[in-house]
Amino acid sequence: MPIITSIEVGAVRVPLDTVTSFSNRSVRSRDFGLVKLHTAEGHTGIGFAYVGTVAGEMLPLAVETLFARLLTGRDSLEVEALWKAMYQEALLQGRAGVVMRAISAIDIALWDLNARSAGLPLHKYLGATDLDSIAAYASGGYYLDGKTPQKLGEELAGYAAMGFKAMKMKTGRLSPQKEEDRLHAARDAVGYDVALMMDVNNGWEDLTQTLQYVRRFEKYQPYFIEEPFLTDDLDNHARLARATSIPVATGEVETGHWRQKTLLDMGGAAILQTDAAVCGGITEWRRVAQMASGYGVTVMPHAFHDLHAPLVASMPNAPYAEMFLDDKVFNFSRLLDRRMRHENGRIVLHQTPGLGFGFDEAILREFALTRGDNHGPWRNVGR
Ligand SMILES: [Mg+2]
Repeated sequence: MPIITSIEVGAVRVPLDTVTSFSNRSVRSRDFGLVKLHTAEGHTGIGFAYVGTVAGEMLPLAVETLFARLLTGRDSLEVEALWKAMYQEALLQGRAGVVMRAISAIDIALWDLNARSAGLPLHKYLGATDLDSIAAYASGGYYLDGKTPQKLGEELAGYAAMGFKAMKMKTGRLSPQKEEDRLHAARDAVGYDVALMMDVNNGWEDLTQTLQYVRRFEKYQPYFIEEPFLTDDLDNHARLARATSIPVATGEVETGHWRQKTLLDMGGAAILQTDAAVCGGITEWRRVAQMASGYGVTVMPHAFHDLHAPLVASMPNAPYAEMFLDDKVFNFSRLLDRRMRHENGRIVLHQTPGLGFGFDEAILREFALTRGDNHGPWRNVGR
């Protein structure tokens, strides 16, 4: 039996090369919480979650104080039982935010561990829809000082030249007219055969303001408009979906399938962007995706293509993974000993067991936010 014998946790803070801006905030660095589960047979599973730009230490603290004793000595194949136990244990501290991200990291590590123990790449362990590669959209179109609409268009045309048939740009930071100019330049650069997605990052506050933008955008046929409002503002998502021809996408910071069912019942999303490192892990991500299929809703998981590529490759209603082509904005890949390749707009799946990558321990030592033995971030919190 694959009994969990020890647990290691840590956190790192990874600076961005260049301060980068969204509609409503700028980012200088990113904190990631990290988990390793070890079994008596010598297998190790890894898990992780983005914790934000400060307070990365909270994730290892949650693993240590809430969950470590629930896991030690348990069979790693009891994934559903362990999920339920963790969720129940953290009912007062968790349900959303960093504690749910700690559950997510542990759950990812369980699936990775079990797939590695079975000797199968994760997408095959989960039941693959695609064996070799999956479609991805190139994620970019950020605001940088001096970046004109023409430069934005050149960036997106570069993704199209690489073979990407879908791509995403940021919007909502500037005036409606200036944002229309950016979108116009983007469409001129890539044409109308490309799925062009737009991400607001919760930048708008009410429907009236939002319609000033969205009505100008409609004629350029965006593929979706992402996170127009704060995540909790379900009503406005549903109102906007009724008021515009542009499909509404949201869910990247949403947790639990119950809340996402409410959103779907209200008609607030045509696309869910549920992130397995946020929502409660691979277990909960699959619950959400399967529930969404009953609503005719697709799932396009947020960021972490290293994690989400095998999940997209095992879920029929998941048409794209989001891919950052470099590690300038979302720099998680910098922590890994192996990166995913893309070919003609598709991510080439790893064929080695589990997630197919490990951490680069030298890089973790460089960016360690928590300190354990060996000058790295890891602390043993298992028995
Ligand atoms: Mg987003």
